[in-house]
Amino acid sequence: MELGFSAQDDAFRREARTWLTDRLAGEFAVVRGRGGPGDEHALFDERAAWERALGDAGWIGIGWPREYGGRGLSLTQQVIFYEEYTRAHGPGRVSLIGEGLLGPTLVQFGTDEQKRRFLPGILAGTEFWCQGYSEPNAGSDLANVQTRAELDGDEWVITGQKVWTSLAQWADWCFVLCRTNRDAPPHPGISYLLVPMRQAGIEIRPIVQITGTAEFNEVFFDGARTPRANVVGEVDGGWKVAMGTLAFERGASTLGQQLHFENELTEIVEVAKKRGRTDDPILRQRLADAWIALRIMRFNALRSLTALQHADMTPLTSVHKLYWASVHRRLGELAMDVLGADAGVADAGEDLGALQRLFLYSRADTIYGGSNQIQRNVIGERVLGLAKEPR
Ligand SMILES: Cc1cc2nc3c(=O)[nH]c(=O)nc-3n(C[C@H](O)[C@H](O)[C@H](O)COP(=O)(O)OP(=O)(O)OC[C@H]3O[C@@H](n4cnc5c(N)ncnc54)[C@H](O)[C@@H]3O)c2cc1C
Repeated sequence: MELGFSAQDDAFRREARTWLTDRLAGEFAVVRGRGGPGDEHALFDERAAWERALGDAGWIGIGWPREYGGRGLSLTQQVIFYEEYTRAHGPGRVSLIGEGLLGPTLVQFGTDEQKRRFLPGILAGTEFWCQGYSEPNAGSDLANVQTRAELDGDEWVITGQKVWTSLAQWADWCFVLCRTNRDAPPHPGISYLLVPMRQAGIEIRPIVQITGTAEFNEVFFDGARTPRANVVGEVDGGWKVAMGTLAFERGASTLGQQLHFENELTEIVEVAKKRGRTDDPILRQRLADAWIALRIMRFNALRSLTALQHADMTPLTSVHKLYWASVHRRLGELAMDVLGADAGVADAGEDLGALQRLFLYSRADTIYGGSNQIQRNVIGERVLGLAKEPR
């Protein structure tokens, strides 16, 4: 297990810190700390401009291979960048899904033509993506997707409904899991299509969440079209690609986030001190436990960094996802208990406070990217060798 950083990594950290803190103190001060979970409606145009600035300076896709326009940086340096981004209170990323999910998927599974067409827009921060997996009857049971795609000449025609599609209202493109073979069993009948969002055959209906804002949406496809070549992997072979994307969603991109949680814990501790709550012995213990949990998260992230270079990562990413999602949800509950009765009150006409948003949004952490129960199934079957769940 590597617990330290090399001199080269430290130099990289300084470079990232300087760039981020300078920009966020200067022309992009307005977006500092904005646009995170529960605040995703805030300052979209300004945050889109921030994406372009990140792209211009080469801070998007830093881990992608150089031949595809990335910087080919090590996983450790990617995590360092995430950490510094958080430390500098960088805004919620509009291009999160393109950079974190679709880009790495195309690098691994895309054709040369797809890489040439789609990676530059992500790297420049000019094309935004959303993820069209879930449907009303296909969440944990993802292989049950019913959205259909049929060939009509040189185009796929798509009909069906997706749900919980994050950031669809701002996306230019969606990667959509579609059933392309209704005679095949569930898994081999699915294809992974890249579909332009701004077209007549697509309707987006935002879903207002418990935070009062709409991060995700229902997306209806009614004869939507995309070119025949926009299928990633084999036709009917999209399941493998879809699982590749999920590994990116559960894995490396989340390794740097404990610093974000630490920022939240710092705020909770400040509030506890200000309100004289640190005399409460139970609350003191819970604050200390939260700090310990974040330390464990950090060590687990560092351990994962070493392990990620090797072997099958799926069980490890499941342990990581299960742990951080549960820790974050408890952190939200702690924040509410520290706020006491004020937790339930929003200032008139004001947005929710950061800690209220933390509490409400963190309920989702144990659901998206595979729920806690699903992660436990993976750990049970693949780590502990328990009998497979009956299907
Ligand atoms: C904030 C947020 C953003 C999201 N963004 C997107 C997005 O951008 N794109 C997208 O496609 N989807 C997105 N999702 C959807 C997410 O992937 C699904 O919610 C998730 O896969 C769970 O599916 P479900 O909601 O249909 O619940 P279900 O699968 O119906 O599960 C309901 C409950 O049953 C449990 N359960 C189900 N199957 C099993 C089993 N085999 N064993 C044990 N327990 C089980 C689950 O753990 C859960 O508690 C998002 C969700 C959230 C909360």
